[in-house]
Amino acid sequence: MQRLTGIAAADGIAFGSAFVIDRRRINAPKYHLQPDELDAEVDRFRRAIEATDLQLQRIKEKLYWAGGEDHTLILQAHQLILQDEQLVEQTIRHIREDAINAEWALRRTVTGIKRLFDQVEDDYFRERRSDVDFVADHLLVTLTDKKPVHVDPPPEAVVVAHDLSPAELARLYRCQIRAFVTEVGGRNSHTSIIARSLAIPAVVGLSEVFVSVGTGDSIIVDGFRGEVVICPDDEVTRRYQRRRDRRSKSARVLRREQDLPAETVDGLRVRLLANIEFADEIPGARSHGAEGVGLYRTEFLYLGRRTLPSEEDHAADARRVIELAGASPVTFRTCDLGVDKLPGPMPLSREANPALGLRSIRLCLERREMFKAQLRGLLRAAGSGTARIMFPMVSGVSDVRRARALLAECAEELGAEGASVPEVPVGAMIEMPSAAIIADLLAREVDFFSIGTNDLIQYALAVDRTNEQVAHLARAFHPAILRLIRQVVTAAEACEIPVTVCGELAADPAMTLLLIGLGVRELSMNALAIPQIKRVVRRANLEAARQLAERVLALSTASEVEEQVMSALDEIFPDGGHRPADDDTQF
Ligand code: PEP
Ligand code: MG
Repeated sequence: MQRLTGIAAADGIAFGSAFVIDRRRINAPKYHLQPDELDAEVDRFRRAIEATDLQLQRIKEKLYWAGGEDHTLILQAHQLILQDEQLVEQTIRHIREDAINAEWALRRTVTGIKRLFDQVEDDYFRERRSDVDFVADHLLVTLTDKKPVHVDPPPEAVVVAHDLSPAELARLYRCQIRAFVTEVGGRNSHTSIIARSLAIPAVVGLSEVFVSVGTGDSIIVDGFRGEVVICPDDEVTRRYQRRRDRRSKSARVLRREQDLPAETVDGLRVRLLANIEFADEIPGARSHGAEGVGLYRTEFLYLGRRTLPSEEDHAADARRVIELAGASPVTFRTCDLGVDKLPGPMPLSREANPALGLRSIRLCLERREMFKAQLRGLLRAAGSGTARIMFPMVSGVSDVRRARALLAECAEELGAEGASVPEVPVGAMIEMPSAAIIADLLAREVDFFSIGTNDLIQYALAVDRTNEQVAHLARAFHPAILRLIRQVVTAAEACEIPVTVCGELAADPAMTLLLIGLGVRELSMNALAIPQIKRVVRRANLEAARQLAERVLALSTASEVEEQVMSALDEIFPDGGHRPADDDTQF
């Protein structure tokens, strides 16, 4: 028996027989061409692009029918990569200038593109390298006319692979696999996102897994904790089975409550909203009970392109988001970019501390034209629904005033051009300690607050949110964090403006009572977490939550706070349903 720990990519516990897939290696020919062969080779390459586009289109349709309709956007992105000017033109240039065949030229181009991705420090954007690989693989298969040999796993297998593309996962889903494990990948890869949406338990980033497992080995995948057990003994299997049963039972109960309002037992209505990165996530979010979009991270619009999005791009995207949201509100966060979060289009000099560098609203205020393109686009789209605009990483009043002045300038210009410009509520993200400390001053300048606890915790506790070595120190229960939240809510109440919490904390059921008690009435989160949070809200009592908040605000350490909060939760869930059902599986 062997136990490995990787990254928990998609919830669920699965038992099965391992099916090991070797990543197909495409043996592409390399040869030089005569000058009179070059035109024909370029034509061959262009035809291969058209054929591949058609294949991707078909895969997209299959993904749709496999239940992944929310993520067909990923295949669309692959189609865009396929048509990308740099990929196409650079390959044609290699064919003509280096007089080499299309396969070889394509390999050269892809190596160059991936080198650019390698320079990006942000994990999410670096993971996009694999998207370029998947597209290039498809294109090479078409060019070489070699059909990849897909050996379908038997039903209910647990697939073990080096890496899986979203399209490969859609195929495996139809083979009814129980789970998958990959050697590479991160929680933010598209494949992991799709696995969550298709409810396929997954663990990724298990680098040594190929050494340890062979086809036919019995295997347990715990996607909640990122654990994989190979050849488990009977006792371990029984423990995981018990844990899975408990998890399934609580999921069944959750589903029963899904359509009920998020209302405490004494009638306080709490608004549960979704955080999204792509428009296509909205239908899924609504079906999980999201009452709107509390945070749209618009920087993903800048992903994988060679030029910055134009005003028209912003307007078109915003219109789509608003349309998909129906009558529900959408909060557009203006782009939160920096050297750690920006590929291609905007070269920025490297920084020793990107989190403390020229990023987010600071960057936007320096790159006025880029910022104005977004603001004008958002204003043009805003009239078609209930849109709000908010600025990230605000450090003080002058950031807000400068950003608002630019927004007013955009509105005035659009008005002069004859457009009708709606009044759009403008908010500030409270994610820097300085902003929280002067929340009373900021509250007079904006129409709403949204507390970004991911960054607030990072900056207040000096814990790099991307560094797994200090992750355990990022404690939401830290008295400093609770005081900051309380201070922000008090300031907002005094000016009668609403406050949302949109960091990961909002999706943590252990925090829900406390946030309600601290006065928060809107929570925005990964939509899959909504049913679970709703469940806590529906058991909560406002007065008891208030008293809990008062009590813990007087405590000295995060552990003391946690103890009190967990015992308050135990009281409203005497069945223990709020606790992770896996305390008995320690080895
Ligand atoms: C936050 O900082 O809490 C937040 C919601 O924004 P992001 O995670 O995108 O930085
Ligand atoms: Mg943030």
